[in-house]
Order: sequence, then structure tokens, then C-alpha cells
Amino acid sequence: MNESVDNTSKSREHIRVDLLQNGQVFLQLNYRRLGSAGLKLSELSLGSWVTYGGQVGEEVAVKCMSVAYDKGVNFFDSAEAYADGKAEIVMGNVFKKLGWKREDIVVSSKVFWGGDGPNDKGLSRKHVFEACQKSLKRLQLDYLDLFFCHRPDPNTPIEETVRAMDNLIRQGKILYWGTSEWSAADIMRAHAIARELGLTPPQMEQPQYNMLHRERVEDEYQPLYREIGLGTTIWSPLASGLLSGKYSKGIPTGSRATLDGYEWLRKNVITTENVEKTRRLEPLAKELDCNLAQLALAWCLKNKNVSTVITGASRPEQVTENMKALDVEPKLSPDLMERIEAITDDKSPSGLD
Ligand code: NDP
Repeated sequence: MNESVDNTSKSREHIRVDLLQNGQVFLQLNYRRLGSAGLKLSELSLGSWVTYGGQVGEEVAVKCMSVAYDKGVNFFDSAEAYADGKAEIVMGNVFKKLGWKREDIVVSSKVFWGGDGPNDKGLSRKHVFEACQKSLKRLQLDYLDLFFCHRPDPNTPIEETVRAMDNLIRQGKILYWGTSEWSAADIMRAHAIARELGLTPPQMEQPQYNMLHRERVEDEYQPLYREIGLGTTIWSPLASGLLSGKYSKGIPTGSRATLDGYEWLRKNVITTENVEKTRRLEPLAKELDCNLAQLALAWCLKNKNVSTVITGASRPEQVTENMKALDVEPKLSPDLMERIEAITDDKSPSGLD
């Protein structure tokens, strides 16, 4: 068996699927490989943080997930921590209600914050195993496609977590495992341990990535794409909604920034400086005949080291709007990317074409 990682540009080729209706193409979707793995994820996917089981209920979730699925989204992201497990319950009920074929969807969960007891959190073998069992029950599934370590756990040896994840794979409870917001050094350690012990290495990372938050995806993880074929399922592509431009005239009623517990969003993200940047980006979106949210999502898609952009939405209209980012991505010329760069005032991009 060839153990080398096929991480050439060929392995990153997009798989374009034309959906036909009466012989006419009505939607073109791109799927990307999860790094060097064979699994294909829709370029845009849908997550449940903040929204399901908290901000919105099952009725809205059914609508949002249906719209996404009809547009070709195949990946749905969740975590044990989201609304204390309620997000997974909502997602599980929606899967059941809509009766999608299991083969047609990719479902994830994450382990780390499961409760207050000493063994209800972290990445010990015990919590990894129990969290997986509970997530499967809430989601009403037999297996998870992706299972993430939601954060690094300084109180558990990495080897213990690698062994626990490998066990879950051997038991058929998960198919791929990965990390979220781990340092490149820790991911490489986990990978090396797995290789040394003949266990399954981590395949993907879930980092934050958007126009205003770039360093990890563009710099720190750069060697990992090459050396271990790391895939990335990136989160908060709109910086919690800021990059839709919705906060440029204050804080709209019902938006994420008005929710209890999201004071940090108002304080750290919706800053005068960031809001000003969104204002300056508006004319660029107009030039491309799209809105700011679509520009911001298309900008994330432009980075070919991103396997999928996990979107979030509190309303089905947002899903419809956001999916159109797929049409905007090809319009992002090098000149436009430079002008965006000048506004976001970040360092020069790498991994962007
Ligand atoms: P975004 O940054 O895209 O924010 C989504 C929110 O922005 C929506 O809920 C909505 O909030 C608002 N919004 C979305 N589209 C529009 C639009 N077109 N116009 C105006 N407002 C819009 O993504 P999230 O922060 O939700 O992250 C996406 C997913 O990533 C999560 O659901 C989760 O699955 C995952 N995630 C993972 C994390 C991790 O640690 N691994 C951390 C965070 C998220 P509203 O209408 O309420 O203002």
C-alpha cells in the first residue's frame, strides 16, 4: 500500500456537479476533498452554533437545512456544546423529518465541553467515548462522519486522545477525526504519534477564518497542507455576521449581537475599526453585483486550502443569499483581492490564488 500523502494540486481539484432539471443545468455545485482524504464536502456547508436549540427552534432549522440541502450542501456541523446538546437534538430531528439518505450527508460533532463534572469535559478517553455516544443518540445516527477535538486539552496526553479517536474509528462510530483551534505543533504531534503507533492520524482542522482573522489558516498551517494533507472546515466566515455589513448602522434587533451572552461580540468584534472596514468593502461588493456577505464568503472560498466554508444562518433567506457566494468566487480577480487586502490591512496572503 502506498502510504504517501497525495496532496498535489491534482488532489485539490474541484468536483463540479451539474444538477439537471428537464435537461437544463439549474445549479452548479463544487465539492472539495477534505485535504488528502477521499471524502468530498460541499464548498459551502451549514453549522448550528448559536442558532439551533437556542436562538431558533426546529421549524426554522428545517427551513434553513432544506434550503441548504436543495442547493447542494452536504455537510452539516454540530458539537456537544452547542446549546448544551440541544442543537444536535434539533439537527437529528430535522434529518429524520426530511428523510435524507445517510450516504448523501456528512455530519460532524465535536467533543470538549460536555458539562460541569470533572469528566464531562476535555479529551480524556472517557469523555471522548461518552461524548461520541451521546452525540450519536441526540443526532439519531449510527456514526459521525467527522469528529473534532473542539479545543486542545492540556490535561490529557495527546496519545490518550489519539488512541481514543482511533478506537472510535475501529468501532465504526466515527469515520474521520480532527481538531479545532489546535496549534500546528500539536496537530503534528498527534499525527506523528498516530503514525508511530499504527493508528489513524487526524485528517482535518476547524479553525476560524475570515477577512479579519487569517493567520492560522494562511501561515501557521501552511506546512501541514503539504506534509500531512490537512483539510480545513473553517468557521465564522462572516465574523459572526459583522462581514455581512449588518452592523454598519448600529445593532439590528434580533441579530446575534443582541443575544444574552454575546457581549464579547459587541466589545471585541463589532469595533469601530472593523465596522469601518465593512463600510469600505461595500463598494467592492457593488462592483461585483453582490452583497457584502456574498463577497466575504467568496473570499474564503478563494483559498484552496479551505475544504469547506461553514456558514451560519438564523433565517432561510440568509441561506439562500449566502449560497450565491459560489457565483461570486470566480469574479475575485487578483486586483480585487489586492484591494480587499488593502482595506482589511492584513499581511500579504498565501494559499490564495
Ligand atoms: P458566520 O460568521 O457566518 O455568522 C453567521 C451569523 O451571521 C448568522 O447566524 C446570522 O446571525 C448572520 N448572517 C448570516 N448570513 C447573513 C446574511 N446574509 N446577512 C446578514 N446576516 C447574516 O458563521 P458562524 O459564526 O455561525 O459559524 C458558522 C459555523 O461554524 C457554526 O454554526 C458552527 O457550526 C461552526 N463554528 C465552529 C466553531 C469552533 O470552535 N469549531 C466556533 C464557531 C462556529 P444573526 O441573523 O443572528 O445576526
